[in-house]
Amino acid sequence: MSHQGESEEERQQMAAPAMEGAAVTALRSVMFRVQQAAERSGRRSDQVRVIAVSKTKPVSLIRQVYDAGHRCFGENYVQEIIEKAPQLPDDIEWHFIGHMQSNKVKSLLAGVPNLTMVESVDDEKIANHLDRVVASIGRKPLKVLVQVNTSGEASKSGVEPSSCVELAKHVKLGCPNLEFSGLMTIGMPDYTSTPENFRTLSNCRIEVCKALGIAEEQCELSMGMSGDFEQAIEMGSTNVRIGSTIFGPREYPKKQAN
Ligand SMILES: *Cc1c(COP(=O)(O)O)cnc(C)c1O
Repeated sequence: MSHQGESEEERQQMAAPAMEGAAVTALRSVMFRVQQAAERSGRRSDQVRVIAVSKTKPVSLIRQVYDAGHRCFGENYVQEIIEKAPQLPDDIEWHFIGHMQSNKVKSLLAGVPNLTMVESVDDEKIANHLDRVVASIGRKPLKVLVQVNTSGEASKSGVEPSSCVELAKHVKLGCPNLEFSGLMTIGMPDYTSTPENFRTLSNCRIEVCKALGIAEEQCELSMGMSGDFEQAIEMGSTNVRIGSTIFGPREYPKKQAN
């Protein structure tokens, strides 16, 4: 291709993405902050996964972040992820981070073949159901995290910290089509967390690893969101779930925990 006839200025504009979208700029800044926090915790940035939480955001915006090189995205409503995933490239690693209902498991797994992880397994029944559906559709084993309620509030999501070993054991030993991969917490129901929540999850990992005889590196910690991901990384998080800091504020009010 000839560049004759183009001014120096035009050539520079083609070389540099001068009109980068706000979400891509925000992603770059998040990745930089993640890298700094990882270094402060004595780790490399590739030891911390950033899940771009795209709930309520249009496919076109997700596509911009994908085109900037990001591959890991999270959604928390089944209806929404099964509508969006087929419109996007299949090398996306989707994480389901919402509350799981038995009657939606089949549509989730059938609708999102590139689902990489379900982060929100919080009882044996849902684990058994996921296990059966994975087997019945013949996909590869599904990575799951056990969700722990670290805030102690009446929020329904997550097992009590004292029950995390039992559920982790059940997944590891009783669900051959699931791959136990670690623990997740949301912290407080309003999506804010405190260092206490992170410390509780970290203590759960110690107990789970001891009980299952696995190394800590085999037990991920999904904790930290837009407002507190750097602190979560410094406290050992391997998975930060970042929505509004990348994509901007969500357009509808947060669903009330009921
Ligand atoms: C929405 C959501 C997030 C992202 O929250 P932000 O504060 O926007 O980063 C993280 N985790 C879960 C489970 C969510 O539902």
